[in-house]
Amino acid sequence: MSIYFDNAATTKLDDSVKELISSLSSEVFGNPNSIHSQGRKAKKYIEEARKVFSEFLKCDASEIVFTSCASESNNFFLKQMPADLIITSPSEHSCVLESVKASGKKIHWLSLDQYGYFQRDELKKLVLDNLDKTILISLMYGNNEIGSVNDIEYLSTLREFHSKLFIHSDCVQALTKLDIDLSKLNIDSISCSAHKIHGPKGVGFIYLNKRVQGILSLKNLSLIHGGGQESGFRSGTQNVVGIAAFAQAIKVSSDNLFLKKLDHYFLDKLFEFKELVTLNSPFDKRVPGIFNIYLPKSRLNSEELVLQLDLKNICVSSGSACSSLKGDSQIISSYVLRACGIPSSIAEKSVRISLSRHNTSIEIDHFFQIIAELSTKFPLELNQTC
Ligand code: PLP
Repeated sequence: MSIYFDNAATTKLDDSVKELISSLSSEVFGNPNSIHSQGRKAKKYIEEARKVFSEFLKCDASEIVFTSCASESNNFFLKQMPADLIITSPSEHSCVLESVKASGKKIHWLSLDQYGYFQRDELKKLVLDNLDKTILISLMYGNNEIGSVNDIEYLSTLREFHSKLFIHSDCVQALTKLDIDLSKLNIDSISCSAHKIHGPKGVGFIYLNKRVQGILSLKNLSLIHGGGQESGFRSGTQNVVGIAAFAQAIKVSSDNLFLKKLDHYFLDKLFEFKELVTLNSPFDKRVPGIFNIYLPKSRLNSEELVLQLDLKNICVSSGSACSSLKGDSQIISSYVLRACGIPSSIAEKSVRISLSRHNTSIEIDHFFQIIAELSTKFPLELNQTC
């Protein structure tokens, strides 16, 4: 049995998406910016896709700007949006962390609790202490490593106290897994990616509400200048097939009921195997299907565990691994877990399991059986504790 439990990294194409890509790749080749029939045909696919996303997210179609990926979307907004201060968190995806650092703007890193949640009081105080500054808050909706769900509804309540507040959210892991109703959230921008929802790699979008579109247009701010495609925010001929395939992916992935059932099944198994498997992620307020775990009775570190599971044909991830030096040896542990204050003895042993609607409960049973075998085969050494 070959099991893929690394769906937060990327997902397998849905069959219907694969079929669409194959048929459109030969049928639709026109440049969507050409005015002849082939161009108009290509453009129709882009505009239909824009409509699919705007209906799904409850926003205006003109507020969806297609990009090449979520990294590009995040770079665009965080580097280009005028702001005196960016407030963000150290558990964001590296494309957010690196974009805010490269933006040259002043940054405030929020402190996090053990599950990666920010504290409302700290955020509110910062906003109140900086009433004279334009602030950009960038906080992801669902964390890609531990799955914690940020209270993004709270962010727009801060507008009551501060008139120059921009709010951006990386919604890559949230799309189709958590409710995103842009007519209620009152945020300015979100970024999403196709390949996390059984769509193709190399296509994403950024939602830019009309207010921020006005500001960006006025200053001619764009990451890629050129032919003025995507309302001037993202020049370059659009990836027509990829965009149409992304829209198909959202149609098939939007029903997350089965994933939620798998999530409950996995939690039940965790309870059954509680002596052998410990959860770092929160139980609730968590993206369905994302579990960060470690094996308290085993001596395997994250990388060793990933490789041992791989030998059993199970793909999991050690998270966005980055290295931390400890003595002479290089220990790999997740920067997200460290930002949450998880002790290094645990962070160094933790792995991420991420499920999708393509997984089954039989795969979950098999996974726990293998985990039990590995805990017996590689027990803690006598003087070792977690
Ligand atoms: N943000 C989050 C939370 C992610 O999980 C990822 C992908 O790993 C990205 C951004 C980057 O997405 P993309 O691969 O589309 O650039």
